Amino acid sequence: MRILVTGGAGFIGSHLCERLLGEGHDVLCLDNFFTGSKRNIAHHLGNPRFELIRHDITEPILLEVDRVYNLACPASPVHYQYNPVKTIKTSVMGTINMLGLAKRVKARILQASTSEVYGDPQVHPQPESYWGNVNPIGIRSCYDEGKRVAETLMMDYHRQNGVDIRIVRIFNTYGPRMAVHDGRVVSNFIVQALQGEDITLFGDGSQTRSFCYVDDLVDGMIRMMECDGFIGPVNLGNPVENTIREFAERIVAMTGSSSKIVAMPLPSDDPRQRQPDISLARERLGWQPYVTLDTGLRKTIDYFAGVFAEA
Ligand code: NAD
Ligand code: UDP
Repeated sequence: MRILVTGGAGFIGSHLCERLLGEGHDVLCLDNFFTGSKRNIAHHLGNPRFELIRHDITEPILLEVDRVYNLACPASPVHYQYNPVKTIKTSVMGTINMLGLAKRVKARILQASTSEVYGDPQVHPQPESYWGNVNPIGIRSCYDEGKRVAETLMMDYHRQNGVDIRIVRIFNTYGPRMAVHDGRVVSNFIVQALQGEDITLFGDGSQTRSFCYVDDLVDGMIRMMECDGFIGPVNLGNPVENTIREFAERIVAMTGSSSKIVAMPLPSDDPRQRQPDISLARERLGWQPYVTLDTGLRKTIDYFAGVFAEA
């Protein structure tokens, strides 16, 4: 198949491109390089089945493909809050453009949605049936509400135009190829620990997250795209939940770092707790994550150590 991956030069997108090429598909990787990097996909540039397109999805584009994975959107709070209006445009106008493309060429389209649609959840763990608790006017809203509208657009193009859609709600994912300055917690803590800098713990560190290794996530995304008779939304994430403080301590121990953990102000609207209920993914996709936090963190630490050794 010919498969379009928007945001293909980003963290998750680059792993997805690699898997799809490995399965024998032709891959069109589209990216505006806002948070993505050529370094993430440079090793495919000589491959005749790989094509790189510099483009911004807020502008229309004509392409002929069988599948669209729509991942283009900054995912780290630092980056999606840098230009919040652009973040909304990317989720709203970008998703309309990709849905228009899918409709025209009758491609199946998968939207990378997020656990952020649940906001600061009052139901724990979060099942897909929960409608969420999102502040519509806060500093995270450009991302959360943008992704919620993107889900609405997917459903309406499906109901109104019969577009073949899939929606996955991705929970916190980590792994090699996160950018050094990505700003999310896993890369921040590892980079700080490896460089002997203070570990920036926001708040008292009692807030929780559940971290999924990128290979497990990509497996779930492909299963969802290729399953029949189920459009989602479906949660994809690892249900093993940790406090952020536990997480900081684990990274310090695993890197043998002398870094100190220092408290910083908690950003506003930071969700208190987050854990996916993955019953639906288990039942409908036969999917669950396999990579333990220790194994995944070891691979990620080794990756960042390699980046610093090269520099
Ligand atoms: P990332 O920032 O590494 O990747 C996003 C990619 O999209 C980058 O390559 C960026 O340059 C590109 N991009 C941004 N705006 C664009 C635009 N207007 N046009 C074209 N390209 C654009 O982030 P990621 O972690 O790889 O996330 C990928 C997708 O998965 C995002 O949609 C994100 O919302 C979603 N997601 C990720 C996580 C996670 O924990 N990593 C969790 C939930 C959802
Ligand atoms: N966090 C932290 N230190 C950092 C970056 C993030 O303590 O340097 C915390 C952040 O406040 C949040 C959690 O780690 O509670 C996860 O943050 P991230 O930005 O990775 O993802 P999200 O909040 O979008 O789940």
